[in-house]
Amino acid sequence: MGDALIGAIDQGTSSSRFLVFAAKNAELITFHQIPIHKKTPKEDWVEFDPEELLHTALECMEKTMYHLQEMGYDPANVKSVGISNQRETTIVWDKFTGKPLYNAIVWCDNRTVSTVDSLLAKVPGKDINCLKGYCGLPVAPYFSAVKLSWLLQNVPEVRIAVDEERCLFGTVDTWLLWNLTGGRNGGLHLTDVTNASRTALMNIETLEWDPYLLRFFGVPKSILPEIRSSSEIYGYITLSHRLKGVPISSMLGDQQAALLGQMCVKRGQAKCTYGTGCFLLCNSGNKPIFSDKGLITTIGYQLGKTKRPVYAIEGSVAVAGSSIRWLQKNMGIIKSEHEIESLAASVTDSGGVYFVPAFSGLYAPHWRTDARGTICGLTHYSTSAHIARATLEAVCYQTRDVLLAINSDCGQEPTCLQVDGGMAANNLLLQMQADILGIPVIRPSMCETSALGAATAAGLAEGINVWQLDVENSANLVTETFQPSILEEDRARRYNKWHEAIKRSLGWVP
Ligand code: ADP
Repeated sequence: MGDALIGAIDQGTSSSRFLVFAAKNAELITFHQIPIHKKTPKEDWVEFDPEELLHTALECMEKTMYHLQEMGYDPANVKSVGISNQRETTIVWDKFTGKPLYNAIVWCDNRTVSTVDSLLAKVPGKDINCLKGYCGLPVAPYFSAVKLSWLLQNVPEVRIAVDEERCLFGTVDTWLLWNLTGGRNGGLHLTDVTNASRTALMNIETLEWDPYLLRFFGVPKSILPEIRSSSEIYGYITLSHRLKGVPISSMLGDQQAALLGQMCVKRGQAKCTYGTGCFLLCNSGNKPIFSDKGLITTIGYQLGKTKRPVYAIEGSVAVAGSSIRWLQKNMGIIKSEHEIESLAASVTDSGGVYFVPAFSGLYAPHWRTDARGTICGLTHYSTSAHIARATLEAVCYQTRDVLLAINSDCGQEPTCLQVDGGMAANNLLLQMQADILGIPVIRPSMCETSALGAATAAGLAEGINVWQLDVENSANLVTETFQPSILEEDRARRYNKWHEAIKRSLGWVP
């Protein structure tokens, strides 16, 4: 009998991962990661094959368990598994065959702009904030209900499956859980409050599917999963051969999982995750705060059936790491994403170049679907290095836009920003971020915070109770700090210019 271990599936937009942590000190023991393939069949369309999301997660589970055994650990010490997942991504499948009825429509997919327009046509003043009091979210293509509405209206197979009572809907947590716990042979059709809070169908105060929201989006309740807390034993794994019989005891959207993984458990604590997009979440305590600055009200976590939910206020930036991929894949400016750092560091500033990567419009705090990518300030002197630097700076400016909105909504100025995510490996980015914000930026030495959050919630669940890390005491995490190093005048001048660039990106799509 060795020390207890906890597994975490982290199904993200770039890859699937499975990680194993020691329950006594949250040490990452081993992991396996497999990239996933995005499909972009049309401009603005982004899809995944749901089977690929499942099979890559499963393969990661099997390979990690194999490594673990090779390392001398007893696989029987894995006491539980948690799930952290890309949010909003929408999957519908046939409960009798277990087969998807359509590809997963990914959170950053923008095909539903016209669906949003027709939903808003019936709203006085076409106010995108008309549902905020119900679900905390604006009416935007980002959220699952709009994607589901599109599927119901545009894909006959989905409509027919609903009529024949064969259709199930789920976000990625639900799809994975249903399959891992038996699929068409009794798989559990559940979601957690954090994922449900991203559908625009859950009432943000009652934590139940809201009849008004279901009517607004034309979604039948019969296809929706049951909403549970983020930390409880939902059921047991049947599908994986090395983890058969192990309980699954947490599910959280990846950004909420990272909030917990960064131990932002006190009101006012905030973290920013730089992955495909960039997501700043601030713990707002046991009551929802409704933003008038374009931020989202969401559930941070609910650690047990009888526990009160912890709310968060969130600013999402659609394009962060994906702009680096764009420079690599579409522009050929860099050969690998890691090269961005040395290329951008080869010049001392962006040479007056500003890049607004509004490829699919702008999210918080602007919420403008009519914005498009814009590069301003190019001269004969500009090089790919200036563009590389401007790309990194754009992520930092957008983070400042969101942080200022959070400060104003929460009425408090953060003294530092905790960061993580794949892009946070980039030291230059974090130095620029500290410079542009004027506060220290703190990175944990272990950046897999989404997985750590899922493991924390899984290990703390009633009936598991093996997690020993003191979640209230973030001093447990080893960190590295980036201090601001530019003058306030310089910071203000550059930030003003950024807003000039933002103005130029707006209204591009009529
Ligand atoms: P997700 O969880 O959204 O799948 P990750 O947290 O794995 O994303 O981060 C992957 C993203 O980070 C990719 O978009 C990639 O372009 C970007 N990225 C990875 N390494 C670097 C780096 N050194 N500098 C800048 N961006 C990077």
